[in-house]
Amino acid sequence: MKCPICDGKTKVKETRIKERFYRRRECLSCGERFTTYELTKMDVLDILDEHLPEKAVDDLAIVLDQELPSHDIKVNIQNWNRRRNHEQQSI
Ligand SMILES: [Zn+2]
Repeated sequence: MKCPICDGKTKVKETRIKERFYRRRECLSCGERFTTYELTKMDVLDILDEHLPEKAVDDLAIVLDQELPSHDIKVNIQNWNRRRNHEQQSI
């Protein structure tokens, strides 16, 4: 992974699994330290859905699909919408 500040090479300083899988990284060029988290697209949409209006999350799902394409994203987003609708019905 490249450094978000200078695009330099980074190395992993620490890897941990708590609620989520995450890594502490350090840039070999500028010394910037940052953390990366491993999330599925459905995880990202779940987090956004807690804080943003439904329409905004739907729009962001389309942007995610365009910016981070994968062969299963349409299925993922359909499944996520089904899960969200199911949770709203059970409230
Ligand atoms: Zn850097």
